[in-house]
Amino acid sequence: MENIRENINNILKKIRIAAEKAGRSPDDVKLVAVSKGVGIERIKEAVIAGQKILGESFYQEARDKIEALLIEKYEINWHFIGHLQTNKAKYIAKYFDYLHTLDSLELALELNRHLEKKGKALSVLIQVNIGKEGQKHGILPENAKDFLCEIKKFPYLDIKGLMTIHPLSDNPIDSIRWFKGLRELRDKLELETNIKLNELSMGMSDDFEEAVMEGATFVRTGAQIFGERIKNKEKIKEK
Ligand SMILES: *Cc1c(COP(=O)(O)O)cnc(C)c1O
Repeated sequence: MENIRENINNILKKIRIAAEKAGRSPDDVKLVAVSKGVGIERIKEAVIAGQKILGESFYQEARDKIEALLIEKYEINWHFIGHLQTNKAKYIAKYFDYLHTLDSLELALELNRHLEKKGKALSVLIQVNIGKEGQKHGILPENAKDFLCEIKKFPYLDIKGLMTIHPLSDNPIDSIRWFKGLRELRDKLELETNIKLNELSMGMSDDFEEAVMEGATFVRTGAQIFGERIKNKEKIKEK
């Protein structure tokens, strides 16, 4: 079986080396441990090993796990990284600290409405479809400026930066252009809108070092921490 603590420490070490190579402070890069499909016991192992940020993609699965972990009183920052339907906004407002995938005005409106009721702000990243892939969610780069200006009007959405799920390839070298693209878009948007976009969520298990070299502040890895997921959810016995 995989050793979760060792895996986390390995990744942190690789992040540190990549950051230093790029002349960045390793403290500016945060690891999001993607725990979708992972049961409570292994999540606990990660948290006990010092992992503070957990990423989930499916609200129902996430809700059940977050509820179950409440009694442990861990200090966990829950990040929602999956596609979010507008009618689930309520749950995000309730359970999550951070949303990586804001991609529509309707969703922003609903989130803001629920957050206002709770008197609580949510940190958000705008999801950008950097490769302009037809099947992918996210704002197209050319629409990002107008979108940001609209989102700025919602007082309970605290805009932190950009996120992308870049076109995947077998070779991490291919990812670099997308990471560069997101960073350059960020720089341009900051100038055009005067909104600070400090955070860049990009890079996954296979290419997080490249992402760090290009400026990622959040890298999202699941498989490298918890092992390969079993694709058929029925097989996850642990749940
Ligand atoms: C699942 C997922 C990840 C993690 O993928 P791994 O291959 O397990 O590292 C990262 N980002 C998003 C948006 C995901 O859905």
